[in-house]
Amino acid sequence: MQSTVKDRIFDHIPPAMLVAVTCFWALAPEAVLESPWTLAVVSPLIIITVQLLEFVHERHQGWRLNRQEFFTDLFYVTLNATVIGWCVQVFADEPLTALKASLGLKSEWLQQMPWLFQAALVLFLIEFGQYWMHRLMHNWTPFWLTHAPHHHITQLNAGKGAVGNPIELFLISLSVVALLDFEPTAVLAGYSAITVITVFAHANVRSNPPIWYSFFFTTIRHHSLHHSTDYESTRCNYANSLIIIDRVLGTYREGEAAVVGQDDLRRLSIREQFLFPFKSIIDAYRARRSGETDATATV
Ligand SMILES: [Zn+2]
Ligand SMILES: [Zn+2]
Repeated sequence: MQSTVKDRIFDHIPPAMLVAVTCFWALAPEAVLESPWTLAVVSPLIIITVQLLEFVHERHQGWRLNRQEFFTDLFYVTLNATVIGWCVQVFADEPLTALKASLGLKSEWLQQMPWLFQAALVLFLIEFGQYWMHRLMHNWTPFWLTHAPHHHITQLNAGKGAVGNPIELFLISLSVVALLDFEPTAVLAGYSAITVITVFAHANVRSNPPIWYSFFFTTIRHHSLHHSTDYESTRCNYANSLIIIDRVLGTYREGEAAVVGQDDLRRLSIREQFLFPFKSIIDAYRARRSGETDATATV
């Protein structure tokens, strides 16, 4: 199909937004950078912008956002920004910071490194951990049960990266960055870069970034294949933002999927997504209860 000027402009929006967000953290006034609210504004702003782009140049009509999908995505984006974020801080980052202090771990030398290098290293460290956590989730049943609800989504949209069982959302957010003494704005830049890349990798935007971007960073082509109905393809392209990791570790697969989902392609409700890992226990309990009721009725 002939690519239009609009297509070509949209192809360059993900790299342009990545550059813009990085420049923001590098150049914004001190007062803005020091405010704890800045990241809380930047992340939703990225999601809203990409969501709006879906309405301007959509990829698949079948993935168009409806009311039910919108409110589900909004619920999960809010859950991630509040409860999950709090849990990660209290149960992971703060204990790691305390461990770092008690062991006397110091890495201030990192702050002597160029700022952009620090931001890139933060991005790599978070993503390398996420890659292995994601791969583990696809290869060990207890972890898969937490990740499966994310694969039950039947369409991709800007907020869909946030949709999943809360245990998975917590596990995938773990990182070792709290153990290291990076420049705080470089850490925020790393997190924002991941947000830009992963939001685009889940979005229904007709955008196929150039190879100099898609060789290193995950795009909707890579990630839609990971969400496809083909079992073998779901066991590839684990990297949420740095697809280069899949290329290097041999788990990369070329392609794209328009039909996404799991099993019978039935979308799960939020309640089902929350209860999914415990489904077999709940079913066994119910079967036992109904067995007892039957026995009582017989007596
Ligand atoms: Zn997966
Ligand atoms: Zn996904």
